[in-house]
Amino acid sequence: MDFKEIIQETYLKTDKISNKGTLATYIPQLAKVNSKSFGVYISTIDNLNFGIGDCYQKFSIQSISKVLSLSLAYKILGEKIWERLGVEPSGTAFNSLVQLETDNGIPRNPFINAGAIVISDILLSNLENPKEDFLTFVRNIANNSELNYSSKIAASEKEVGFRNIALCNFIKSFGNIKNKPSDVLDFYFDLCSLEMNCKELSEVFLFLANEGNSVTNKSILTKSQSKRINALMQTCGFYDESGEFSFKVGLPGKSGVGGGIIAIHPGKYSIAVWSPKLNTKGNSYKGMKFLEEFTTRSELSIF
Ligand code: GLU
Repeated sequence: MDFKEIIQETYLKTDKISNKGTLATYIPQLAKVNSKSFGVYISTIDNLNFGIGDCYQKFSIQSISKVLSLSLAYKILGEKIWERLGVEPSGTAFNSLVQLETDNGIPRNPFINAGAIVISDILLSNLENPKEDFLTFVRNIANNSELNYSSKIAASEKEVGFRNIALCNFIKSFGNIKNKPSDVLDFYFDLCSLEMNCKELSEVFLFLANEGNSVTNKSILTKSQSKRINALMQTCGFYDESGEFSFKVGLPGKSGVGGGIIAIHPGKYSIAVWSPKLNTKGNSYKGMKFLEEFTTRSELSIF
């Protein structure tokens, strides 16, 4: 399979599409990025590494980091984490409050904000130095000490994070947040502020294509945990457009409001795409188009 050629052709074709998306302006710092940026990078199990466009430019990975915080919580506590949150698609927006009322403060899954806030709470309770320890975990996955948070993005989000503040306090009222809401939220905003370029993103996520093992054969998660995280990305990774992504792309993946998408082909590759303008569901407009065309041309998906 000549992924290189397919990526080049798909990139050129997607680049010509008129972009009907808009930037995520609700976080002021995200509104400042160059909306024309477009990068792609693939890392394969058999060691092909190839990128195109703005693949070396850092961006805010936002909710993509929810997969990494879940991975660390899962690694530490195992199946116990599912006492605190579910594994069902929510069918509502990423920052919705409505289901929490009927679900007694148990978020539907770890990839909506409510779920990621509970995961942040779990990590706060279980890590000695949560901010440093999480960063060390992420850096170790791909042996990359360059990875870091953006204090500017975290501060920008904190200033306007009224919905997340509401979510955290609401969940706390049901007893499903154990720490001080302001500490949980500070940590959550830090997690969302992680920056990576497409190359780094695809390298970090390759362990999910490799049964939970990093390229240097470090065990990050067990085979079963890795399978389950892929399953959650498949069913819940794209807000309430997860069905559409599954239908059109056919891979597990996760998007973020910074315009990044990571998609995994278990046993084969991880691919990162970044184009900051988002469609009406909050997913990268061009990123979705690129991946649809990519899996169509390569005729490879998990189905
Ligand atoms: N930090 C963003 C928020 O909490 C993450 C949203 C996203 O990327 O889905 O609103």
